[in-house]
Order: sequence, then structure tokens, then C-alpha cells
Amino acid sequence: MKEIIKKLHKLNELDIDLQTLRKDLERMPKELAEKEEEPKLLKEQIERRKADILKLKMEADSIELEMKAGMEALKRYASQLNVLRTSKEFEAVKRQMEAQRGWNSENEDKALALLSQAEVKQKEADGLNTKLEEVEQVLALERERVDKDVADLTKKQNDILTRRAELSKDVPGKELAIYDRIVVNRGQATAKVNKGFCSACHMKLPPQVHNMVLLAKELVTCPSCDRILTAE
Ligand SMILES: [Zn+2]
Repeated sequence: MKEIIKKLHKLNELDIDLQTLRKDLERMPKELAEKEEEPKLLKEQIERRKADILKLKMEADSIELEMKAGMEALKRYASQLNVLRTSKEFEAVKRQMEAQRGWNSENEDKALALLSQAEVKQKEADGLNTKLEEVEQVLALERERVDKDVADLTKKQNDILTRRAELSKDVPGKELAIYDRIVVNRGQATAKVNKGFCSACHMKLPPQVHNMVLLAKELVTCPSCDRILTAE
């Protein structure tokens, strides 16, 4: 039985390594996925800027059309001035021309304001693009690193699984079943007896339990934490 317990202890070391490997293999792609969020957000922000710029330019275009129409109107008024008979009519057209000039200049200001807003948005988009390139570069290295680590850990995991399969062939089914039940609940499935105490849960063991561990004729488990006890 001492040999079997030794093998179970070895098996448990492998299983604990496997647990750590599994956790790392789960964690690393998750962490990478979190980092992949940053370029996504940056791309969204860039797209929003682009949409804003398009809208501003379209508004500026329509105002420019109005300005052109305004210039045409001014020309028409100017030609009317040549054919007018009375000074009253002349003054009326002059006033309309003044008003038209005012609207035209207002429209020009509006168009310029829209274009300078578009320019600000363009600068923001350029800055975001630079940031995106930097983030993509860092991420490319990170992806490479994670791929390599995952491959290494997977290979390690497979090696351990092979050793585990070999080792468990030598453990009788009854003892293996007890071990398998404990390892699922506890992870650490074996515990040394240390001066009459269980080294895992630190409970004082009843003397007969301690004796059974020393005799090692069968598997003895800790009455408190259920781990397989091995002699000190
Ligand atoms: Zn215990």
C-alpha cells in the first residue's frame, strides 16, 4: 500500500500542475480578448468622427449653394438697377441688395465655421488613427506571445496527461476511485501526518487513525478534511 500511496501522491502532484495549467490556458485568451477591446473602441471613435466630418461638409456644401444663389440674385439686382425709372424703385432695389449682401456674408461665416469644425474633427481622427496604429502594434506582439504560451502550455499539459495515464495504470481501481473522488473536491488530495496532526487541515488525528496510517495496510483518510493521509 505504501507504493500505491506514493503513486497517488505523485498523481496528485501532476493533477495540481494540470489545474494550474488549465487555469492559465483559460485566463490568457480571456486577457487577450479584453485587450482586443481597445482597438475596437478606437475604430468606433474614428468612424464617429468620419460621420461627423461628412455631415459638416454636407452642411457646408448646401450653404455654399445658397451663397451661389445669393451671388446670382445680386447680379440680377444689379442689372435691374440699369432699367429702373424712379429713384424710389432704385432705393428699394438697393435695400434688397444690401439685405442680400448681409445674408451672403452670414452664409459665408456659417460655411467657414462648419469647415473649421470639420478640420478639428479631422485632427481628432488623425490622432485616434495614430493611437490605433500604436495599439495594433503592441497587440500584434501580445497575440504572438499568447499564441506561443498557449502552444507551450498545451504541450506541457499533454505531456502531463500522458504521464498521468501511465501512472494511474499502476494504481488499483478501488484506490484510484477514492483518489478521484477526493481530488475533485479538494485539489490537494493527499496530506502528510505531522506529529499526529493532519498537515492539510491541522486537525489532531485520533490515535487509531494515526496507527492505521503508520501500518499503511489500506488507504486512510483524514476524518476532518477527507484527504488521503501519508506517514510523516
Ligand atoms: Zn485533514
